[in-house]
Amino acid sequence: MNLKIVALAGGVGGAKLAHGLAKILSPENLTIIVNTGDDFEHHGLYISPDLDTVCYTLAGLANPVTGWGRVNESWNATENIAKLGGQTWFQLGDRDLATHLMRTSRLKKGDSLSAITHDFCHAWGIEHRIIPMTDDYMPTIVDTVEMGELPFQEYFVHQRCKPTVKGFRFEGVESVRPAEGVEKAINDADAVVICPSNPWVSIAPILAATKLNSTREAGFTSKKNPIVALSPIIGGEAVKGPAAKMYRELGIEPSALAVAKGYEGFVDGFIFDKVDAVLEPEIQNLGMKTMIIDSYMKDINGRERVAKDVLKFIHTLL
Ligand code: GDP
Repeated sequence: MNLKIVALAGGVGGAKLAHGLAKILSPENLTIIVNTGDDFEHHGLYISPDLDTVCYTLAGLANPVTGWGRVNESWNATENIAKLGGQTWFQLGDRDLATHLMRTSRLKKGDSLSAITHDFCHAWGIEHRIIPMTDDYMPTIVDTVEMGELPFQEYFVHQRCKPTVKGFRFEGVESVRPAEGVEKAINDADAVVICPSNPWVSIAPILAATKLNSTREAGFTSKKNPIVALSPIIGGEAVKGPAAKMYRELGIEPSALAVAKGYEGFVDGFIFDKVDAVLEPEIQNLGMKTMIIDSYMKDINGRERVAKDVLKFIHTLL
């Protein structure tokens, strides 16, 4: 299979499929474009949670239990921050801290996030290309009923996704440009894969930052390379995280169909779980080709199995 693929990914769900694709595709045939709308500053450090989750996962350094942070982590710094009266709602493991320290000092020197990510990947032995969606700062702001607008990590980690969501805003979106290499990777790709990431706060920021959704019709992609999405909603629920809760709070019944509707007119093919097979006619009515699979990626074998299904599906669309 010599397909050239661009994968759009958030953290947990995105990293799982990206990992599966990386097991099958050679480094020159896979580029992963990652959400940076979750990025924020904490204790003076620039933190890029989705980028780190994808990198740690592909490098085999990720913590398989938490879904974030590093395996074999220790917490000396966090314990001592607490002792000194510092905030610890966003936990920074000791090994993880090295990433944030190095990234922050290099950003301060003027290096771009994409150049830093490239060098970190090399140091961690990652051969596939991982690019942040933008080198500009475009933080996701969550508008909530109870607390008004909250920066994403304040909503997600500090408030544990409890406030009721009213909407989202991507600060500075008007002036944001895709990172170096993003446009070329998309233009050169045989297909774009939208990973099973949160459509509201992982995929929407990537589409906004890369202008992929609005510029496709205008010929941003030189060939009509198909765009394929995999549903993060299985049986009306998210595997992990607040995606289903967000749909409900925005007045939409969470389902694979709801995810497909969000990508209507943009996505050519939609893959969803066998437990949702009954939704197929309605999804096809949106003008999408469909594939039904076992989409739960329990372990590395599951990631590879789903990645193979995705590539098989893409072959039928070319
Ligand atoms: P975040 O940025 O860390 O929230 O991660 P993502 O946005 O990339 O991923 C969150 C989404 O991944 C959730 O909506 C989950 O339902 C979805 N997800 C996680 N694991 C799986 C899986 O094994 N299969 C599918 N289809 N979706 C998954």
